[in-house]
Amino acid sequence: MHIQTAAVHTLRDFEHGAVVPPVHLASTFELDPATEDGAYAYQRGSNPTRAQLETVLAALDDAEHGFAFASGMAATAAALSTLTVGDEVLLPASVYGGTYRFVDLVLPGRGITGRFVDDLGALTDADFTPSTRAVFIETPANPTLRITDLRRIIELAHRHGALVIVDNTFMTPVLQKPLALGADIVVQSATKYLAGHSDLLAGTVTTNDDTLAEAFALAQKAQGGVLAPQDSFRLIQAIKTLPLRLERQQSNAEAIVAHLREHEGIRQVWYPGSHSEEEARIHASQASGNGAVLSFELAAGLDSVAFLRALRFPAYAVSLGGVESLICRPATMTHEAMTPEARQNAGISDELLRLSVGIEDVADLLADLDQALAAAR
Ligand SMILES: *Cc1c(COP(=O)(O)O)cnc(C)c1O
Repeated sequence: MHIQTAAVHTLRDFEHGAVVPPVHLASTFELDPATEDGAYAYQRGSNPTRAQLETVLAALDDAEHGFAFASGMAATAAALSTLTVGDEVLLPASVYGGTYRFVDLVLPGRGITGRFVDDLGALTDADFTPSTRAVFIETPANPTLRITDLRRIIELAHRHGALVIVDNTFMTPVLQKPLALGADIVVQSATKYLAGHSDLLAGTVTTNDDTLAEAFALAQKAQGGVLAPQDSFRLIQAIKTLPLRLERQQSNAEAIVAHLREHEGIRQVWYPGSHSEEEARIHASQASGNGAVLSFELAAGLDSVAFLRALRFPAYAVSLGGVESLICRPATMTHEAMTPEARQNAGISDELLRLSVGIEDVADLLADLDQALAAAR
């Protein structure tokens, strides 16, 4: 089944012939007094509506197991909770700000070390120590859109007995399936493309490993950061248009990248594969598209505040993946938890702007960018 069909038809045959699934709000479920058996017992452990969403999540990633959490960070925290005292995890220096915060401020208290690496793509055997238990990858990286070779890092990490966790938020299963390339765990902030309308906070974990799946079921039950039934239902519905939305968002982004590259008001544009032919080749070998996030810097002498104020459509706001375009300044917004040196090493200048492209008519977006660039002079 192709992914657009799976997004619509994975769940079928509901009571009364309903064509959308029911929402089960019950926090508790009646059990057989003799055996205390029942498919469900208490909402935190599992409930029918979240279970339906989790079936869809697994189907999208061709995975054995899917889990829905209350946010992308709850999902990432669950993935990193597979680590224990004395373990080390390798991460890119430009990793999502919330993940940076968790690794920087929470993991040390558990005796776990996060080692931030400037260029994760350049990892070699020498970077692994006996305590390296996991590698956490974002490809494309945010907001530099640098590409990491998943096959190479997965092979390297597995040779050293380390798990590979991929944050696939920017690509979604529509464009990239890291589990199929051998990754152990995929996390996503479903707040972004999966939900797609900037109106829902959610996170997902998928895996093919039964032992890891037990750990994630435990994380749901023991830590409790689960997605509520109403939000699970809304995410099931939103996912039905995910491939459709992303296709439009990506074609809009391609047109904007081509336009900005030719614009005298733009110093540089970053998009997957733009850093080198090698990265473009790697990205094309592991993903089926470039997605809908790009970054750029205005040419010297242009006033970025005037540019941002003049924009009519992209709202100046963090987040991405929604039907409406959003623009932000990573140095002061999404990546402010990093030190200035760490940002510099990761290639995130104070002037870099990140644009998440929505589903608007691209002619309106291009005209808007042009008039705002003119206003920035
Ligand atoms: C937003 C985001 C997260 C965190 O997700 P929340 O749903 O905001 O908790 C994690 N990783 C990436 C790449 C993100 O963009």
